[in-house]
Amino acid sequence: MDFYCLLKEKAGYFFCLEDRALLCRQCDAAVHTATPYVSSHRRFLITGVRVPLQHYLTKDGNKIIG
Ligand SMILES: [Zn+2]
Repeated sequence: MDFYCLLKEKAGYFFCLEDRALLCRQCDAAVHTATPYVSSHRRFLITGVRVPLQHYLTKDGNKIIG
């Protein structure tokens, strides 16, 4: 069974905690309506929150990690 669709370009993405998988809306519906067991999976909408690169830099622009 290959439900995972990392390469599809779709507007909405869901992350399933139990599957540890990123799914498009279409695959999320297909996967998580298949059985009562998978319908209890905890799924989160990927909201597209941006992570600033400055998080890894000092005020002088030097890398903190790496
Ligand atoms: Zn799932």
